Amino acid sequence: MRIKRGTQRKQARRLSLILSTGVVLGLLVPVAIAGVAEPRRPSQRAAASPAPLGGAAVGSTHRSASETSPTEKVSLSNLPLDSLGVADNRVAWTVDDGLTPEVIGAYVQLLQTTDVRLTFFVTGSYEGWRQYADQLKPFVQSGRVQLANHTWSHPDLLSLTDEQIVDELERTEEFLLDTFGVSAKPYYRPPMGRRDARTDAAAANIGYTVPVLWTDWLDDSLPTTPSALLAAAKRAFVQDAIVLSHANEFAEIDVLPDIYLLIRERELQTVTLNDVFVSH
Ligand SMILES: [Zn+2]
Repeated sequence: MRIKRGTQRKQARRLSLILSTGVVLGLLVPVAIAGVAEPRRPSQRAAASPAPLGGAAVGSTHRSASETSPTEKVSLSNLPLDSLGVADNRVAWTVDDGLTPEVIGAYVQLLQTTDVRLTFFVTGSYEGWRQYADQLKPFVQSGRVQLANHTWSHPDLLSLTDEQIVDELERTEEFLLDTFGVSAKPYYRPPMGRRDARTDAAAANIGYTVPVLWTDWLDDSLPTTPSALLAAAKRAFVQDAIVLSHANEFAEIDVLPDIYLLIRERELQTVTLNDVFVSH
């Protein structure tokens, strides 16, 4: 399937409309928010998400939430990572896989037309990362995009030997170094969230010491629709969350501007993992 040029033009028009609307919202939101309850954190949603296996701890004690400020970095202590552990308006939007090049392209367009900050968990064997490398590079260099490791071929790590786990992570590490000039260490996401102490140790042996799970997600591991994606986004995008979406489903393309607008309306600040965590 290909995305028609008309669709891309339509998306560009919608984005420019949203951006000009955003200026107005920027003026109105402080007034509107004053009378509106803070977006609810779906504290139980993590359990309903695509079951991170291996004993993912829900809740975070990286640092007492009340001690953080919006620009302060947080120490990594409670692993696997499944929330930011901050008490402000920060949210990490993390994007996995990259199975469909056109959907990676839609995220690139969002980067080009907004101030969004994203962390991509790259599955190295998917071609779209090569196709869009030149357009992604400036954002990687400026720090608005962080690249993390989502293995080479998206296997269930629990089914692999330690040696195979290392190979899966190292192939994508080499791809990211060769193509973008950056290492993804220490952040990686086990496919399907499947991990245990053994897989963690195998990854940590080569410097991948931080398995990253998620607080909530866009219910987009199977074919979905723009309206279902937006409904999930309304639930998932709240302060302190690590939100998981995928660059796989075509439905994602049309809804990204609406999700960005939702983030603006809630006065959330998108951050990469490097924006938040001190990892060395
Ligand atoms: Zn994945």
